[in-house]
Amino acid sequence: MGKRGIVIAIDGPAGSGKSTTARCVASRLGYLYLDTGAMYRALGWSLIRKGLSPDDEAAAAGTAAALTFDFRLEGGGQRVLVNGEDATGAIRSSEVSDAASRVAVHPAVRNILVARQQELGLEGGIVLEGRDTGTAVFPKAELKVFLVADVAERARRRHRELLSCGVAADLDVLMGQIRERDARDKATQRRSGSWPASDAITVDTTGLNIDAQVARVVELARECGI
Ligand code: C5P
Repeated sequence: MGKRGIVIAIDGPAGSGKSTTARCVASRLGYLYLDTGAMYRALGWSLIRKGLSPDDEAAAAGTAAALTFDFRLEGGGQRVLVNGEDATGAIRSSEVSDAASRVAVHPAVRNILVARQQELGLEGGIVLEGRDTGTAVFPKAELKVFLVADVAERARRRHRELLSCGVAADLDVLMGQIRERDARDKATQRRSGSWPASDAITVDTTGLNIDAQVARVVELARECGI
């Protein structure tokens, strides 16, 4: 166990409930919270704004190396500052979701962002969520959770989330985008190692509300002796 506590790694596909679960678990335990997907999104957003392609590995790695992130928890949500600029709403658009999943395929980008994530979690007492937090980022995390949910449920959740940010979206289009992103993300993770981690505990959130998801992960954390 690190100085500040254990490392809890929560991975899973888009819309499986990782962000809300991880944020609430962190707050219940008094732990830090790190949304690793927001880093890939911030990079995708920065490239789009510079007119660069997310498929250009050298441009993506160069931009990633120069990015600064500031994550602030505010009123139950997370404010994301990228190079000092508020990108909280902008990084959640469908265009940025697609760009994030495209920059994430580049090994040079992953090396840079994974190293940043490892630094932030060095002392433990942290809940990280993403795709590879229990494999590439913290393969020795004391608790690894793999959240899953069926695709229709995940599309409904993304729809609600976008609406709450004032972004209009079509449910069928979202379902198609989620399937496409799932396929690309799965291929990316399989290329970089075994996925999910063989010692991850799978929790199916399809029929669970957020309180039940949080309670389950907190219970698993308590079983780790915290
Ligand atoms: O979790 P979220 O949907 O915000 O992540 C956006 C994208 O960033 C994912 O579709 C995935 O391609 C990428 N990602 C990743 N590794 C992580 C977190 C996110 O490749 N640890």
